[in-house]
Amino acid sequence: MAPQRPASRFDPAKLRDNALTSIRLGIEDFERCRVLGDGGDPARALSAIRNLFAGVLLLFKYKITTCADDPADAEALIFNAQEVLPHSDGNGGIKWIPVGKFKSTTIDVATIRKRFEAFDIQVDWRVLNKLQECRNHLEHLHPAHTLGEVADFVAELFPVLQDFIEEQLSESPAGILGDAWHTMLLHHNFFIDNKNRCDDGWAEADVPEGMMPWLEKCRCPSCASILLAPSQEDLDAGNGVMNDDLRFMATCIACGESFLIAPLMVEALERAHDFDPRDGDEATLEGCDQCGHSTFLIIEQQCLWCGAELDYDECEMCEERLNQDDQDNGGLCSYHANAYEKFMRED
Ligand SMILES: [Zn+2]
Ligand SMILES: [Zn+2]
Ligand SMILES: [Zn+2]
Repeated sequence: MAPQRPASRFDPAKLRDNALTSIRLGIEDFERCRVLGDGGDPARALSAIRNLFAGVLLLFKYKITTCADDPADAEALIFNAQEVLPHSDGNGGIKWIPVGKFKSTTIDVATIRKRFEAFDIQVDWRVLNKLQECRNHLEHLHPAHTLGEVADFVAELFPVLQDFIEEQLSESPAGILGDAWHTMLLHHNFFIDNKNRCDDGWAEADVPEGMMPWLEKCRCPSCASILLAPSQEDLDAGNGVMNDDLRFMATCIACGESFLIAPLMVEALERAHDFDPRDGDEATLEGCDQCGHSTFLIIEQQCLWCGAELDYDECEMCEERLNQDDQDNGGLCSYHANAYEKFMRED
């Protein structure tokens, strides 16, 4: 027999209030962590992300509860069913006892996602995944080094929250979040304006086309922001990333730090092509014989930096794919090049 559920004191309105409070606190923490100079408190970055994450999840749960008219159904939707385990009564009989002393837990992100699917509630999970990632990795890092990342994240959360509150809750974000919403809006606009300015700048900076996606992955080495602008000095001097990679600088708009951009792009590419030979994996990236950058994609037989391709892409005899190393064999794989040489000697 299922255990008796205690009388429901569940109140969705309370859930909604808690959600909004948590988001407001998150934005307050966000403002505090970013004040430059003595007033700033980097440790608040973690608290900002924790509060925002919790607030958004509570708001999601609140939405789920609105899908049921009956309060008991609403409660059942956001609480995990209590686990009931068998115990021996010492006389060969069995008693079923609920675990956790009637304190049930609320559903996790994976279950929220399932409920949303079941009720056809649309949300951009990419941002939520990023929020969770950011939260997990903030726990392990010095918060000062990720202030930029937290700031980028708050900017990206803005449109998701806006859509959700307007479309799913049919409410006005400014109306229910007040000053916190205003802060988010200003910050979001600042972020978008600067992101556009950076993108326009890089479009003038002669970035190798194949490296563009890896430029997008670059983050400031000191604060992890993605708001990186090409150096105006380099642009004015007519320098380009492709040919002036040893001097072309970028500046982080979030923290003001300047650094070379080319190594960051190559690092981002290398990270994506990281492999472990102990697992039997093989390299997918190597140094380019033409330009010297570690940007030659072995699978594509092409360099992402200079665009160099192979003269011979497959063996004339066996059609095996050829590498940069095989190019001196005149279109043969190493096996057939050896065989050919031996044949010529015997002849
Ligand atoms: Zn920075
Ligand atoms: Zn190259
Ligand atoms: Zn061959």
